[in-house]
Amino acid sequence: MQLHKTIHKTNPPILSPNLSEYEDIRSNFEWSSIEKELDWLPNGGLNIAYEAIDRHCLKGNSNKIAMIWEGKNGEKEQYTFEEMRIHTNKFANVLKNLGLNKGDRVFTFLDRTPEIYFSVFGTLKAGCITGPLFSAFGPDPVRDRLENSGAKVLITQPDLREKIKDILHELPELKHVIIINKNNRSELPLNYGEINYHEVMNEADNEFDEISTTRDDYSIMHYTSGTTGKPKGAFHRHNAAIQHYITGKWCLDLHPDDIYWCTADPGWVTGTSYGMCAPWINGVTQVIYEGGFSARKWYQIIQDYNVTVWYTAPTAIRMLMKAGNEVPKNFDLSQIRFCASVGEPLNPEAVEWSKEFLGLAFHDNWWQTETGAIMISNFQFMDIKPGSMGKPLPGIFPGIVDDEGNEVSDGHRGQLAVRPGWPSMFQGYWNDKERYDSRFKNGWYITGDEAIRDKDGYYWFVGRSDDVINTAGHLVGPFEVESALIEHPAVAEAGVIGKPDPIAMEVVKAFVSLKEGFESNDKLRRELMAFARNKLSAGVAPREIEIIETLPKTRSGKIMRRLLKARELGLPEGDTSTLEDD
Ligand code: ATP
Ligand code: MG
Repeated sequence: MQLHKTIHKTNPPILSPNLSEYEDIRSNFEWSSIEKELDWLPNGGLNIAYEAIDRHCLKGNSNKIAMIWEGKNGEKEQYTFEEMRIHTNKFANVLKNLGLNKGDRVFTFLDRTPEIYFSVFGTLKAGCITGPLFSAFGPDPVRDRLENSGAKVLITQPDLREKIKDILHELPELKHVIIINKNNRSELPLNYGEINYHEVMNEADNEFDEISTTRDDYSIMHYTSGTTGKPKGAFHRHNAAIQHYITGKWCLDLHPDDIYWCTADPGWVTGTSYGMCAPWINGVTQVIYEGGFSARKWYQIIQDYNVTVWYTAPTAIRMLMKAGNEVPKNFDLSQIRFCASVGEPLNPEAVEWSKEFLGLAFHDNWWQTETGAIMISNFQFMDIKPGSMGKPLPGIFPGIVDDEGNEVSDGHRGQLAVRPGWPSMFQGYWNDKERYDSRFKNGWYITGDEAIRDKDGYYWFVGRSDDVINTAGHLVGPFEVESALIEHPAVAEAGVIGKPDPIAMEVVKAFVSLKEGFESNDKLRRELMAFARNKLSAGVAPREIEIIETLPKTRSGKIMRRLLKARELGLPEGDTSTLEDD
């Protein structure tokens, strides 16, 4: 694989990075010293919501703005930490009054309104497990998740309740449906037995003094993105707060006066770990925008709210690139001082683009639902190598291992694995112990991704183990081929698969979508073939390229290569519950 040259920063940040003495800190690292930076409950327990909200009020930051919200219809609201404390206390009381117990599952199926944040943190205060779902889900994915998790409570809104009304009676464990009619947006009536959120919140007490979770109590469960197969319900502990906190501080470089924007929806783990927990545990103000993607609107949000730290995903960056280079020039984006990306490999081209058009390099970092928090990161202080995921967080011990779980040497590809025991490690897949157990080998947690570590200790993503292509004896990672293709000015996105072949075993086939203003035709296709052959070795360059309108993606924005493959081969599509439909 091609390793790109190091970019040396020319403009040092005005604030000094929170982490700089990396090697020193890494070699003397103890999680116990990070644990001391949290407040812990008066009884010695740990609760994510308490660390994210209440402790800031106790420390004189009651009036600091925690949330700046802009609704999809242009509504604007903001909430201080004290207001968050009261709303979440009230919601914890609502659940207590319903008789819920520690460990009960409480799911949200809501748009990105402030109330989803109140519900999630109120649920955590009450000791229940929160499970946020994408509001774009149809009835089947909602039913599957509520059924699998045995959820007792569903918090939703009138239009979304309408969408799933036929499945609600199929869920015997679901005892309560709470309806939030945000700003009276809907005229739909409540159905018999449904609870009116606004009424019960009005009646609920402002104080909730009974937070009783320990670090080992379960907190959040998330179904994985479904990129490689059926989503799995990974669940976590309150202990994750420790890693949320330190990754917010070191990997996102959050400082007290930052205005932070994470574009992820709470339906994806990034939207809870980094759109809720990490920024607020660090006491930082965050912007939440309810609407969907639009390049203009996004730049506008950054400009209008003076966003200083921005966390997004490669798919969004590629969409910004697709929208063209003129658009950002109309906005003042100068206050952004740090931007980071997660979810998919970040193509080097995207890093180069952001340097030119935002004046900042996107810092890639790697983690997954199961890890609960960032594990490998391009830190603010370090020179990034575009295309690399960066270096391990201090206290995290990854390795590159072979099929038997033995480490391979630097520069060689293998399975990306991590030594178990990190604070935000998942505790299981709900109702699937066998699958959980199958992820461990020879003292390693096997992530399902393949990677290479270089001699400087940087990790490079090769591909998901399931997506790696075996062609004429070469193993080819799709990322390398995709990254080469998107360097072509016409290409917006690329997805690469292995297509079965009687001689080579598999051949590399690429699907590409085009940027605005380019037309799909045979000439361009041939040009792309030649372009790829020029950039990649003969064995790696795609044998076939097909230009398509859009690539199939998950709701968290990941290219679903398994679907490209199934469609190519005329095979069943498998689980498509997380497929984005617009
Ligand atoms: P499923 O497990 O259901 O197939 P998923 O793995 O996409 O879905 P997530 O947990 O949301 O679900 O995604 C984690 C995965 O995303 C990682 O295992 C990796 O494959 C990919 N990923 C995340 N960050 C990066 C990154 N910086 N570079 C490359 N890949 C990344
Ligand atoms: Mg996964």
